[in-house]
Amino acid sequence: MIKKMRILISNDDGIYSPGIIALAKVASRFGEVRIVAPDVEQSSMGHAITSSRPLRYKRIRLGDFEAYRVNGTPADCVALGTHHWQHVDLVLSGINLGLNLGNSCWHSGTLAAAKQAALLGVRGIAFSTSVSENKDPDFAKLEPYVAKVIEMLLEEKTMDLVNVNLPEKPKGIRWTRQSVRHYDGKVAPSKDPMGRPIFWFTIIPLQGAEEGTDRWAVEHNWVSVTPLRLDLTDEKELGRALALHHTPPISTGTSGALKGNKTSANATNKQARHRKS
Ligand code: MN
Repeated sequence: MIKKMRILISNDDGIYSPGIIALAKVASRFGEVRIVAPDVEQSSMGHAITSSRPLRYKRIRLGDFEAYRVNGTPADCVALGTHHWQHVDLVLSGINLGLNLGNSCWHSGTLAAAKQAALLGVRGIAFSTSVSENKDPDFAKLEPYVAKVIEMLLEEKTMDLVNVNLPEKPKGIRWTRQSVRHYDGKVAPSKDPMGRPIFWFTIIPLQGAEEGTDRWAVEHNWVSVTPLRLDLTDEKELGRALALHHTPPISTGTSGALKGNKTSANATNKQARHRKS
């Protein structure tokens, strides 16, 4: 008998968001589904983990699915979910009510759930869609695209972390890169009813992104699929630095303080060598 693929679903909008059921429904065509998600909204929490208090979960029924609501962040949910359900093959996050494009990826809890999966060695895919003020997304319209993207990505054996954004009315699917030229975070000052200054950290809509980027794709009604990686190293800068400078040696001297420095430098080098092996 062929083992069914195990798919863990999470999000950052909270377990009762309509986006999570929509994603679970599509996922159930590909394998066995379990939902582990935050009990309340955790949008813009990024990749925070809860380390100062214990985590708990409550088992609930969510439509046809086995689900667990956790008093933690999206990353906590994925850690807990993969701990309890052995051999998870795939983690899907979303469908988030709101796009996660360009620099928003640094703040996104939706993407963080997928990242946590990738950190644990499980493939993670994040799904987000645009929302307007007065109506919920038309998930029925998005479902075929979500299914197509999952199918497409299952063919790819090396893409461990992928960010997917769906426009309201998709016309097709495009591979894209992250648009990081503009930053859409902005502090908007205001006053509270007592006249004291307050501040809203807001995301302002940006338009006019470069062709081939995630933002460009969604602006042109394409589903944007961006392969990401966990390694943040700036290879170009590292290469330049390594070519130009050799790491300066720690100065040696006879004074006690300098001797102390030398010892700790040696210890650090030893640690670095250890880590490498
Ligand atoms: Mn959200």
